[in-house]
Amino acid sequence: MATIGWIGLGNMGGPMTANLVRAGHAVRGFDLSPAALAAAAASGLTPATSIADAVAGADVVFTMLPRGEHALAVYLGEGGVLDSAAPGTLLVDSSTIDMDSARKLHDAAAEAGFRFVDAPVSGGISGAEAGTLTFMIGGDAASVAAASVFIEPMSANIIPTGAATTGQAAKICNNLMLFINLAGAAEGAVLADRLGLDKQVFWDIASVSSGDSWALRTWYPVAGVVPSSAANRDFAPTFTAELANKDINLAIAAAKATNTPLEIGEHVQQLMQRLIDAGEGARDCSAIVKLVDGTLGATAAPAPDSAPATATATASTPAPRA
Ligand code: NAD
Repeated sequence: MATIGWIGLGNMGGPMTANLVRAGHAVRGFDLSPAALAAAAASGLTPATSIADAVAGADVVFTMLPRGEHALAVYLGEGGVLDSAAPGTLLVDSSTIDMDSARKLHDAAAEAGFRFVDAPVSGGISGAEAGTLTFMIGGDAASVAAASVFIEPMSANIIPTGAATTGQAAKICNNLMLFINLAGAAEGAVLADRLGLDKQVFWDIASVSSGDSWALRTWYPVAGVVPSSAANRDFAPTFTAELANKDINLAIAAAKATNTPLEIGEHVQQLMQRLIDAGEGARDCSAIVKLVDGTLGATAAPAPDSAPATATATASTPAPRA
């Protein structure tokens, strides 16, 4: 049994820590949100009153935070992890963050005498609950191996990616492809419907044909086809449009830094932005289908200066961003 410190007990961190508790570890967690802290405590986590309290005596510290700025504040801020944990402690950041912040964390942790890995995850809330996440881990080989032991109860796949920050690189590129695939599934689904195909018949074909993708099998944006799709629940979020937009923007920033043209990725980012501008940012990202089937604005007030989208306009000429 290990003592694990954990910062960030939201949609992902909550169920991830529950699996560590189930595996017999003592987990001390901290979150700014009292509700998130209480929910995690109900699953057996020991609530901490501060970052310092969460990391005291920990063998390993995990963080699961929204963005780079949160991770920088939690690690480098006054009273943060580097101030409070015992030198030499293994630190694992599982947040999805930008490459620059990931690099800063590696450098600062090394300078302060800590072992640090970037270990973002794929698999969503359902994977967090089931303990079947894929972890992609960047850092020196010994630290990656040490982190893998603690990660095991939360994961189905643990994949070392190489040097520092390569875990974040893998995650950013994976999610770029995911959202491009999702946009493709949305366009195919609506066009198939308008060409007279039964939605189930078309999905049965595409899911065993070359149009297949994880997005198609898991997030198919048409109600009544795939049980896990948010379309069955009026796009109540499993992965919000805001979060999808964040992830695509991470890819765009990394592409700019490496002179890589991301014409399709940039287009999909504009589609996500239009969803957000229309008030749907807190809805599931698969609501992107509304830009194709013309229902954007049907359940939320459109942005003041945005016209209702049409299938034709969406496919060829995106409306200007608000
Ligand atoms: P979330 O917003 O539900 O949880 C983040 C938590 O961090 C919140 O509870 C917040 O209060 C807490 N927090 C923020 N700043 C803090 C601070 N200074 N001190 C303590 N707590 C702080 O987000 P999430 O869905 O759990 O996602 C976390 C990360 O995992 C993100 O980077 C996200 O991109 C990534 N991710 C999410 C999913 C998903 O399906 N939700 C899947 C894979 C990866």
